[in-house]
Amino acid sequence: HVRVRFCPSPTGTPHVGMVRTALFNWAEARHAKGTFVFRIEDTDAQRDSEESYNQILDALKWLNIDWDEGVEVGGPDGPYRQSERADIYKDVAAKLLEAGYAYESYSTPEEIEARNVAAGRPKAFGYDGYDRNLTEEQREQFRAEGRRPALRLRMPDEDVVFNDLIRGSIEFKAGSVPDYVIVRPNGDPLYTLTNPVDDALMRINVVLRGEDLLSSTPRQIVLYRYLMELGIAKEMPLFGHMPYVMGEGKKKLSKRDPESNLFLHRENGFIPEGLLNYLALLGWSIAPDRDVFSMEEMVEKFDVRDVKANPAHFDLDKAISINAEHVRMLEPQDFLNRSVPYLHRDGVVSADSWDALTDREREILTAAAPLVQPRVRLLGEVSGMAGSLLSAEGYIEPDVDARKQLKDSAAEVLDKAIVALEGVEETAWLTDDLHNLLNKALVEEGGYKPRLAFGPVRVAVSGRRVSPPLFESMEILGKDVTLARLRGLRD
Ligand code: GLU
Repeated sequence: HVRVRFCPSPTGTPHVGMVRTALFNWAEARHAKGTFVFRIEDTDAQRDSEESYNQILDALKWLNIDWDEGVEVGGPDGPYRQSERADIYKDVAAKLLEAGYAYESYSTPEEIEARNVAAGRPKAFGYDGYDRNLTEEQREQFRAEGRRPALRLRMPDEDVVFNDLIRGSIEFKAGSVPDYVIVRPNGDPLYTLTNPVDDALMRINVVLRGEDLLSSTPRQIVLYRYLMELGIAKEMPLFGHMPYVMGEGKKKLSKRDPESNLFLHRENGFIPEGLLNYLALLGWSIAPDRDVFSMEEMVEKFDVRDVKANPAHFDLDKAISINAEHVRMLEPQDFLNRSVPYLHRDGVVSADSWDALTDREREILTAAAPLVQPRVRLLGEVSGMAGSLLSAEGYIEPDVDARKQLKDSAAEVLDKAIVALEGVEETAWLTDDLHNLLNKALVEEGGYKPRLAFGPVRVAVSGRRVSPPLFESMEILGKDVTLARLRGLRD
């Protein structure tokens, strides 16, 4: 029975690397009909924040990534926030100390560095093992000086080798990993202790995480062996380290890059289906010739052993085009429901949910959906597309792009269009008829090329160069508003 976990530290706003980790763990659990545990690693009071914790919850809920055990839902191995598990870590640390797997270390960072320099070792050599075999007398002496010890884990004098699910055999040479601190002098347990201890107690058997954590794996394996000796852990988990996500050029995507900000993608109008689909491609693929798939399909096919070890590149254009595919697949009413908050944010409709809109807004949006849905890639683009249809304004100031389209003949074209349209009965104000009428008046009789004929009309009607189809828009707007817009641009 596969048990995987997602265990972020609540620092900062959710980023795409974090979400990719959550997604791959979730997919592994769902594929294997296993258990997905969601734990919060908030042992660093300086950096952790409640705001960040709430944002992570918000992110997972928005993305429909659900968990079986963990914060909010509970489970047999709780609590699931490390800040509430201090007694557990204290207890395990005491056992490690008693068994001799950990030892008290009184060296200060300055002393360690000074010893390294004196012995001709590089400054950044790290801890030199000085306190490994202190006698009780020496420890007394340090305590008498008012020092308090950190606890360090004793690394064995042997190579640590493991078989990474994604990168194959990985070897850390004996002596390459110094004894490391698991409890600070003030008694605070560190990530190095809490993470493997909780994995053990929560019976995690597959650890799937980012490549940045690869260097902590040999230490965790050693700690895990000790936990097994002590009967605290049952079996060594399998490890898989997912590739880095690269941004522009050859640089790792940084948490500060806008491309990595999950909520920015949401504000721009990514939908969960589209964003998750794209993130799934950061290290994995469903088939060589396929980019677009649903989460059900991902779950059916996902296997961490198929994840590639080489770095993945975050390509925003590709992400947007995949999102567009998913936007197109939405049921029209679903598309509208999800668009309304964006329309409201942009001041285009009166409320932020479908049910709270006016009848007129609902009517127009229903008519506009088939025109708009195929033409937007992000829900944030709906306002620009549908805005001119929802407005009853008689004149729309064209944007810069649209204005550039207006040639010298525009005024004449608009005059001819106005005359022709004035003669149309309200009841005959229909897409096809309007198309035929203007085609006849402007192209056949007026002698204008279609682009010159319809361009000014489009600019008058929508104010934009890229807009929903012209004649459908005119039908939705009705005779009065359409004519008012043509006259408005003409004057
Ligand atoms: N709390 C760690 C982090 O956010 C989790 C590391 C792990 O997955 O083991 O980086």
